[in-house]
Amino acid sequence: MDHPGWVGGTNFMLRVAVVGGGITGLATAYFLEQSVSDIAIDLFDADSRLGGKILTDTSQNLVIEGGPDSFLAAKPAMVDLCEELGLAPRLIGVNPQAHGSYIFWQGQFYPIPEGMQTGVPARAKPLLTSPLLSPTGKLALLRDLVARKSPAGDQSLGNFLRRRFGNQLVDRLAGPMLSGIYAGDIDRLSLKATFPHLLDAEQRAGSVYLGFRRSRPSAKNAPRRHRSAFLTLDHGLEEMVTVMADRLTHTHVLLSTTVDRIAPAGKYWVVAAKGQDSVYDAVFVTTPAYATANLLTFLPADALDLLRRIPYASLAVIGAAYVPEDIRIPTNRTGFLVPSAAGLRMTAVTWVSSKWSYPDVLSLCVLRAFYGRAGENILGDSDEALLATFRKEIAATMRIHKPPQYLRIFRIPRAMPQYTVGHLERLERFHRFLAAYPRLFVLGAFEGGVGMPDRVLQARQAVQAFCGQSAAGSADQQNSSANH
Ligand SMILES: Cc1cc2nc3c(=O)[nH]c(=O)nc-3n(C[C@H](O)[C@H](O)[C@H](O)COP(=O)(O)OP(=O)(O)OC[C@H]3O[C@@H](n4cnc5c(N)ncnc54)[C@H](O)[C@@H]3O)c2cc1C
Repeated sequence: MDHPGWVGGTNFMLRVAVVGGGITGLATAYFLEQSVSDIAIDLFDADSRLGGKILTDTSQNLVIEGGPDSFLAAKPAMVDLCEELGLAPRLIGVNPQAHGSYIFWQGQFYPIPEGMQTGVPARAKPLLTSPLLSPTGKLALLRDLVARKSPAGDQSLGNFLRRRFGNQLVDRLAGPMLSGIYAGDIDRLSLKATFPHLLDAEQRAGSVYLGFRRSRPSAKNAPRRHRSAFLTLDHGLEEMVTVMADRLTHTHVLLSTTVDRIAPAGKYWVVAAKGQDSVYDAVFVTTPAYATANLLTFLPADALDLLRRIPYASLAVIGAAYVPEDIRIPTNRTGFLVPSAAGLRMTAVTWVSSKWSYPDVLSLCVLRAFYGRAGENILGDSDEALLATFRKEIAATMRIHKPPQYLRIFRIPRAMPQYTVGHLERLERFHRFLAAYPRLFVLGAFEGGVGMPDRVLQARQAVQAFCGQSAAGSADQQNSSANH
């Protein structure tokens, strides 16, 4: 067996493998280098590029994101990392004049009422005066003030919201707003694993609305480094990948290198890739759950089954850019969401050039259309079929009939893990299997949140846990040598 990561040759050098070079794996390698002085890391990725889901096309003097386009400023892990990487001056917020977005419903654009927080009202008046809900739909909102608190145990987000606010709010507003984040079916997503603060508000105040209102002052007083709730980088998010990779000085990046197997070998770990076994002191696995299950085959079948049963939604993102004269509707917000009952296959459209002021780009109207409803096999469509659907739907919604100047389909198979009802309990069971294996860290977007700040936070915490284990290990060693 070979030690590819062994660069210094001292007995104290730690050799670590990081499997997966998306943001979780990259951040893990970065934090490891920051925290451990004598370390040699091998970072494996099956793909020919780093970044995983993060992919920016800047080839046509435009900034078109194929995956994520921004991150939440309120979760500081990403902002902190950008600042550490010297990227703070490159952070930009959503254009203030493009505040909010629309819902496309029954052939019309309705502004999302002010004061909607994660799909539910934190203010009553804007929702009660919105034409998006009928009087019956508005009356149903009152249920939140009288409905019983949820019993213990998990339930679907849809079930919780339907019981408290009625079907109209869920189908026309909350559903499109919340299911977009996970590309999932609101009636299957776990309340506890996705938006536990809704449950928390209900449990505290007996009503989500009242719970939100009571917690508002603390949110207002929270320190904010940035004005916008969402931030991005002025040349696209892939720049972060490039900058982070450039900062890695003790990491050997192995691209186009699929890891086939990870197995314990005494107090070491063996990683097999391209027919070669390499030995490490620790391994951080950051691949999607289904890939991780194929790597950790030394675990009992029950443990692997817990990973394999995590469903993933496939997505297609279509980026398009038009000359401004071809756009006949005001694109004065960040875009629009499309409820599933609206009868279109698109789930949302972002008006990129309204949302972000990327510098030095062509002055075209850029948009991204999202495809892949829960339960739909969108990638079964050929490119021609997808584009035909896109053309038809972009004409029906935005009345665009002219061909675009730029057009690209990003196909993302098994893009988004689905945190379905019981997800947290299943993960807890999985971790019980892992407890017997120190120095094996299983990370990834199937746990702890799909957002980039969640990914970075998980990486940081795993590295802290690793350093804690290493410190405890060397203290034990010193004690045992002192005792001899
Ligand atoms: C269309 C879309 C839009 C999104 N929008 C946002 C957004 O606006 N804001 C936000 O915060 N988040 C967003 N997300 C979520 C976020 O982008 C992802 O959760 C995050 O990028 C996942 O990072 P990761 O490193 O955990 O996984 P990945 O990016 O999936 O990386 C895993 C890596 O593992 C590699 N790999 C797999 N198997 C193997 C193997 N056997 N051996 C070696 N390597 C392997 C893969 O090649 C890949 O590079 C979006 C996601 C998608 C798909």
